[in-house]
Amino acid sequence: MAEVKLDDIVSLAKRRGFIYQGSDVYGGLSGTWDYGPLGVTLKRNIMQLWWKMFVDSRDDMYGVDAAILMNQKVWQASGHVDTFTDPLVECSNCHGRFRADKLENPNKCPACGKEGTFSAPRAFNMMFRTFVGPSGQDEVTIGERMEGPTDGKNLEGKKAITYEPSSVSYLRPETAQGIFTNFKNVVDSFYPDLPFGIAQQGKAFRNEISPRDFVFRAREFEQMEIEYFINPESWEVEFEKWVVACKEWFAALGLPEDSVHELEVEEEDRAHYSKRTIDFEFDYPIGREELMGLAYRTDFDLGNIQRVSGKGMEYTIKGTNTRFIPHVIEPSFGVERALMAVLCSAYREDEQNGEKRVYLALPEHLAPVKYCVSPLLKNKPELVAKAREIYSALKAKYGAVMWDDNGNIGKRYRRQDEIGTPHCVVVDFQTLEDDTVTVRNRDTTEQSRMTSTDLLGQ
Ligand code: ATP
Repeated sequence: MAEVKLDDIVSLAKRRGFIYQGSDVYGGLSGTWDYGPLGVTLKRNIMQLWWKMFVDSRDDMYGVDAAILMNQKVWQASGHVDTFTDPLVECSNCHGRFRADKLENPNKCPACGKEGTFSAPRAFNMMFRTFVGPSGQDEVTIGERMEGPTDGKNLEGKKAITYEPSSVSYLRPETAQGIFTNFKNVVDSFYPDLPFGIAQQGKAFRNEISPRDFVFRAREFEQMEIEYFINPESWEVEFEKWVVACKEWFAALGLPEDSVHELEVEEEDRAHYSKRTIDFEFDYPIGREELMGLAYRTDFDLGNIQRVSGKGMEYTIKGTNTRFIPHVIEPSFGVERALMAVLCSAYREDEQNGEKRVYLALPEHLAPVKYCVSPLLKNKPELVAKAREIYSALKAKYGAVMWDDNGNIGKRYRRQDEIGTPHCVVVDFQTLEDDTVTVRNRDTTEQSRMTSTDLLGQ
């Protein structure tokens, strides 16, 4: 793959309406991103492709859409309250805070450049805490500014924030727990045979210490996760099937095979309950980094839920007395990291008629706009009328069709190339005679003539 610079992707994404900085007009909010008209379509195309591939086209998968706010016990039982932390260090000179394990030089502050100024690392919990219900959070003038219940201490005259500990909740830091907590519901409603999976897509929130590299590390992002429930006897076979399924997914995204790498996570780096984890890494412009993870999580999560909730999470094999807590294999996909890999794989520069051209060679099924329709000249009503007719018919069929009559044809092609539109249709004077239009191919720039009937029948 040719060298792609992150700056080129970021500027194209902003300029052409894919992705903007969140809250941009107010100076932004670090780690948040807004999707513009083309970005939201590209993102949805990726998410819909995933749903089609992993849910709709299989008969062993069930979808759920759980609430983002969950009972705090979910995060206590899962271990997130105690251990979902990153190591944070603070520079005593500039007070910048950094994630200790991501520093290029562990002794030098990347903000002020001073050496030997870091505090000892402390565990920073990445969950966003919030309060549910009107009993949540009050600011009262009683005592020293403090967090938590005041326990009736006399702290007269000062500001205090009080809250009911029982009202605490968290914005979910992963979608997986909404799957585990619905395991029993799905089993009771559908009686699936093992192995079967439950899939969920949706927002996840992590208060990352240093959000960076565009949407790669954000504080609000989207995940697509599957918990695939299995009999532990068959975990190796099922794991291998998921490795293959993940590779099929990368191919469907149009990622070149040699840009995705399997990193077998060593035992000391794996979660203690995981018997095998593979990180699939992608060659991003920022280096080789995690695209998604595939982990065998044993019965850790359902076991925790059973222990803390007191509700049985066992599964009985139909027609037998064999009962056990199913084990799980978890493929965990990040939408933004997939989208960023898609953009980086599709980004191309070439030369056309002595001019530099930028285009996105997106797979057609992901392209946010499938067709662009133009009249050759916008001041010829008969051309415009015919082009409008074709535009409406294509739009009724594909939805994602754009009208462009601005500037000359060459400029229109460049604009469509940059957003990855695979086909540009132009209505010219010949169309009025023989009903043929020109259809230009984005990647080769070649134009062919076909009748509008053939075009619409495609
Ligand atoms: P990293 O080591 O890069 O922080 P992680 O190992 O914590 O990632 P997981 O907890 O395994 O990530 O999350 C599953 C997937 O969710 C990741 O593979 C990634 O695609 C996505 N993801 C996780 N954190 C973020 C984030 N801050 N921004 C965007 N995507 C993320």
